Amino acid sequence: MATEQHRYTEELKGRVFKIESLNTHNGPGYRTVIYMKGCTLNCLWCHNPEGISQKKEIWVLHSKCIGCLCCVSVCPHSALSFVQDKIEVDRDKCTGCYTCAGFCPTKAIEKLGEDFTVDEVFDKVLKDKVFMDTSGGGVTVTGGEPGMAPEFVSQLFRKCREEGIHTAFDTSGLISKKALDAIIPFTDLVFFDLKIMKEENAKKMTGKGTSQISESLNWIKSYKMEHDKPELQFRTPIIPGATDSKENLEAIEQLLRENYEGLFTDWELNLFNDICEDKYQRINREWIFREKEFGAGAYQEIEAFKNKNQKFNITISGFIQKS
Ligand code: SF4
Ligand code: SF4
Repeated sequence: MATEQHRYTEELKGRVFKIESLNTHNGPGYRTVIYMKGCTLNCLWCHNPEGISQKKEIWVLHSKCIGCLCCVSVCPHSALSFVQDKIEVDRDKCTGCYTCAGFCPTKAIEKLGEDFTVDEVFDKVLKDKVFMDTSGGGVTVTGGEPGMAPEFVSQLFRKCREEGIHTAFDTSGLISKKALDAIIPFTDLVFFDLKIMKEENAKKMTGKGTSQISESLNWIKSYKMEHDKPELQFRTPIIPGATDSKENLEAIEQLLRENYEGLFTDWELNLFNDICEDKYQRINREWIFREKEFGAGAYQEIEAFKNKNQKFNITISGFIQKS
């Protein structure tokens, strides 16, 4: 049985598009943040659009490209072309074989998504352990939606537990009960996104309705009431015209007040910014918030909302004041 378990861990792979060391925004202390590829939602404002598709993809950093056309000539699927001095990717033809990335002399082609075993990711985590130990940090899995890779996350978190490493799970909640069952018992902190309460708005802005998200939240609530863990924190992205209406924020506040008081520690309001716009160009996806901005006036409204709801520990993050 022990041998089977060992083999399972070695063979199980998760698709990861980024691993960040010493991150300070996703839980206590210094964190190693694992970004899993693939998401169950498709939020129009996603700050990691390269994490939405579960497919392996590439993007080209045009500032690094010297126009040698090595990539065009080696692509076995004719997915690359040179148009108006730029490499273009035909995403229908690209299979994510990464041949082009291997031949690019300037590393202008970046791989989006690589498959790692649990042990491979855990080895990267261990390299940061000294910083975690001195700062009270740990590991955070996010994405994408890490709940799409439940066995991988579960195995990784079990290993973290064995080494005394704090674990945080960042989820949209649109995941199966089986995934919750696999992950939550090994999780110290859940970041649960509450984005849009109204069903038709949620479908329009995120691609999916809210019922399964509510079920997941109820599941976590029951688990927490029974086991007095994990710690629960909520996150709401404040997106102009999508999530920032008074009606939406008040509906979330009502849900938390009526059902979750005493069960969660923080509610983070993560303010809109457009620093991800470049990524949208690189991945050939439309950034529909070009004309939107979150100015000082909007910031003051959010601050007023926070002050009105002082019974909750509301934090505001992400604001970028433009000159
Ligand atoms: S990843 Fe493979 S299929 Fe896609 S563009 Fe590069 S070489 Fe072609
Ligand atoms: S191989 Fe790299 S540097 Fe050469 S054209 Fe392709 S992306 Fe540009």
